[in-house]
Amino acid sequence: MMQPEAKIDLHCHSYYSDGTTSPAALLMQAAENGVTHLAITDHDCTDGLEELSRHKEQGQRTPTLIEGVEISCDWQGLEIHVVGLFVDRHDLTLKDLLQTQQQARKHRVQTMAAKLESLGTPGLMDYLEGLPATAYTRSHVANFLVQEQVVKSRQKSFKSHLGKRGKIYVAANWCTLEVAIATVNAAGGFAVLAHPGRYPLNKKKLEALAQAFKACGGVGIEGSYPNIDPNMMKRLELLARQEDLLLSGGSDFHDPAARWTELGKFPRFGISAQTIGVWTHPIWQARIADEQGRC
Ligand code: AMP
Ligand code: MN
Ligand code: MN
Ligand code: MN
Repeated sequence: MMQPEAKIDLHCHSYYSDGTTSPAALLMQAAENGVTHLAITDHDCTDGLEELSRHKEQGQRTPTLIEGVEISCDWQGLEIHVVGLFVDRHDLTLKDLLQTQQQARKHRVQTMAAKLESLGTPGLMDYLEGLPATAYTRSHVANFLVQEQVVKSRQKSFKSHLGKRGKIYVAANWCTLEVAIATVNAAGGFAVLAHPGRYPLNKKKLEALAQAFKACGGVGIEGSYPNIDPNMMKRLELLARQEDLLLSGGSDFHDPAARWTELGKFPRFGISAQTIGVWTHPIWQARIADEQGRC
């Protein structure tokens, strides 16, 4: 079993997607915050893990890195995020899907760039190509809009430009929930439903999503993340029990400048919840044993 002092964070982003720091900096910051197990889960890309495999060879192995990814997908017309933990980034099925998703992301920002240019602001693609990101997100576009003084804040840009009724909105073309989960499973990982309380779903629909998630081969559900309502946390713990899903949790950290998130920081589960946490999963246990064997 894991040591009681383990402090996990199973969801965060580097600058290979829409985080602002390098994967190595994430690990260093996590270590400073006392995190013992960190999953890096960039949007639709695993390039940060590649960089860290070199880091690891240099003998820097704290905290324990859990190789992850966050896949955007479609369920009944709704955008859902699937976190894959312990994925094998070399797996061809996974590589293939991520390539397709990255391509879809590129097409989306190219269309946004054309719309923006016709509104008098050229240069989005040049800006994006100057970033280390391999997965382009609306978050990057938001930063560009602020830089070009098109909008006053990132938050406002999601309303005026990037959201469904925004001026340069382009619908995304994601894979299905079924494919996202099957791919995580094919890559030897386990699939976790990300931040379930953030989707515009009522109680019944959320239950339906959890059931569909499980039926497709998903094994976990995030029961805690920053700013979660305590009632939602309780609901998710119950939902996990009811649908026989393991509980996961993470900071969804993107940016040290954003004060509301910090690596390792999210509301802790109740003691009972820990007994059904993802760290009881056999894959987790095997990997931890593996890591410890190499010390
Ligand atoms: P995408 O996956 O390209 O749709 O980009 C979405 C990303 O933008 C998310 O992962 C968040 O990091 C960020 N984001 C989404 N909505 C907002 C919002 N309202 N305000 C700030 N950031 C947001
Ligand atoms: Mn993001
Ligand atoms: Mn997400
Ligand atoms: Mn995320």
